[in-house]
Amino acid sequence: GDESSQILQTRGLCKAFGGLTATDDVDFGLEKGELRCLIGPNGAGKSTFLNLVTGQLEPTAGKIYYDGHDITEMPSHERVGRGISMKFQVPSIYEGLSVAQNVRIPLQQVADGDEFESRIREILDRFDLLAERQTVASALSHGQQQRLEIGMAMALEPKLMLLDEPVAGLSVEETAEIAELLREIAEDDGVALVVIEHDIDFVESIADRVTVLDQGSIFREGSIEAVKADPEVKRIYLGE
Ligand code: ADP
Ligand code: MG
Repeated sequence: GDESSQILQTRGLCKAFGGLTATDDVDFGLEKGELRCLIGPNGAGKSTFLNLVTGQLEPTAGKIYYDGHDITEMPSHERVGRGISMKFQVPSIYEGLSVAQNVRIPLQQVADGDEFESRIREILDRFDLLAERQTVASALSHGQQQRLEIGMAMALEPKLMLLDEPVAGLSVEETAEIAELLREIAEDDGVALVVIEHDIDFVESIADRVTVLDQGSIFREGSIEAVKADPEVKRIYLGE
């Protein structure tokens, strides 16, 4: 698509840690409402790339454009306010708080006080956590914790959601639930998503297009069918 239909673009994006180039001249583009998977071997630079987009990390060189605006220098909290939300690889729920209290925290950044209770209910209902609303978050199953975290990210009413390995360690059933939720978020809410994931079956179940990173660079980009059939991708990624 043309540039105006893109929610996210990077141009020549680089990140070095000392002598190590974790992100190497990445030109990335994502359409509004698109669900893209980011795959690649361990250490390929997937998490670093998402952390540059959220502003957790500062690039060494290059530009980041969001919804047509240069956000390269924008502080991380402002990016959240503009609609970029992230579900990190390490769970970032508040373990000592109840499920409802967890959802209240991101809501406080975007909603009015008189809307909190109805919005909390709406989100917990959607993410199948209404019965657990009083439960302390640490007591939830791993799958419920992942759903809570996605619910917290959705509470921020994002236009772009970035998820780092949202189904790592989940059962087949829990993985299928997350897959369905992510598809709905893209299709019904029109949120663009970038999802880092290793499980190629999961990738196939949610994404139309896939970007393969290797050694910090975009190695391949295309349909899941084309990427899966590519012998070079099999070699670097699937270890064949
Ligand atoms: P992936 O998520 O694809 O597994 P990462 O983005 O976590 O890869 O890491 C890419 C490379 O950058 C790796 O070699 C990793 O060791 C290195 N790296 C990541 N974060 C840091 C950091 N904060 N300091 C130094 N090196 C880092
Ligand atoms: Mg990672």
